[in-house]
Amino acid sequence: MVDEKQLRDAVKKTISRDDVKYVVGYEKGTSGFLVSPTFAFTPGDADKFIFSPLCVNNLAVYPMLEDKPPLRKGEEPDTRKIGLVVKGCDSRAIVQIIQEKGLKREDVVIIGIPCTGVIDPKKIKEKFPGQMKNVDVKEENEKFVITIDGKIHKISKDELLAEKCKHCEYPAPVLYDILIGKEIKSTKKEDYKEIEPLEKKSLEDKWDYWEKQFERCIRCYACRDACPLCYCKECMVDLLDPQWIRRSVNLSENTAWNLLRAFHLAGRCIGCGECERVCPMDLPLMKLNKKIEKDIKEMYDYTSGIDAEEKPLLAMFKPDDPEEFIL
Ligand code: SF4
Ligand code: SF4
Ligand code: SF4
Repeated sequence: MVDEKQLRDAVKKTISRDDVKYVVGYEKGTSGFLVSPTFAFTPGDADKFIFSPLCVNNLAVYPMLEDKPPLRKGEEPDTRKIGLVVKGCDSRAIVQIIQEKGLKREDVVIIGIPCTGVIDPKKIKEKFPGQMKNVDVKEENEKFVITIDGKIHKISKDELLAEKCKHCEYPAPVLYDILIGKEIKSTKKEDYKEIEPLEKKSLEDKWDYWEKQFERCIRCYACRDACPLCYCKECMVDLLDPQWIRRSVNLSENTAWNLLRAFHLAGRCIGCGECERVCPMDLPLMKLNKKIEKDIKEMYDYTSGIDAEEKPLLAMFKPDDPEEFIL
């Protein structure tokens, strides 16, 4: 369990600094199992900050969403830092962005949470359909303790845990300024079992499988907007000249969008699962991401978002890199 007092004290301390603009964290949502991202602009705002197994959003997306309006004559840019509450996977996104020079290390103050896993919002909504009253969720040994209207439900963690957490190798933040609680180590290992059935399919069956998925895509771009690593100033899908992808929602354009995005994230995706979580059509986007992650690990022994000093995969070259695929 995360000590919320310690978390709020850390937020207060951070927002009290003259060089910090605001701190992003989590607060209780307005109903049911909802938890919302929240901002502290003053030390008083820190009192609403929480951390529970419902805090699933990857807040690393926020520094990349910063508005940068044109400056008036004589106006100086606001270069103050952004404070961020991060879990292990979220911290990997920050590290990856720093590697890519999207952010400088000194742009952020990182409040790290050693994480023991979050709840998959879809699974808990299925378990308690139509739940509108605000609930309390805690963790106790290997169970989630859910209190609804004073009634306590103890449910095994395995049943509700987000898929990404079942194999999480980096539950503790890989980069932080303040740590809430103690470092934890993972005993889990990503075994990629989930993508095995797909890997065993013939090329035709794989194509068939993905066509069926991609034709359901409505091109809402929620996957892009929730992804901390999708931060290009201009996304290729918004370009009109050249128009790489037309506006029409059909299988051809949808396939182009989903495959281009997956490859654009190759060696960069840190597996936070936000794209799949927010997809209104339930596309299994993590299967695509995990397959690429596995191939990269096997070919280049590379894991994204671990070391801020390291170069990104596509920016480095080793003489013994595999090259059989080069024509
Ligand atoms: S993937 Fe790891 S760090 Fe991220 S929420 Fe799950 S357990 Fe926590
Ligand atoms: S979130 Fe889902 S439906 Fe929307 S563009 Fe992405 S894959 Fe398509
Ligand atoms: S592609 Fe999906 S899993 Fe990968 S970093 Fe982006 S949101 Fe997270």
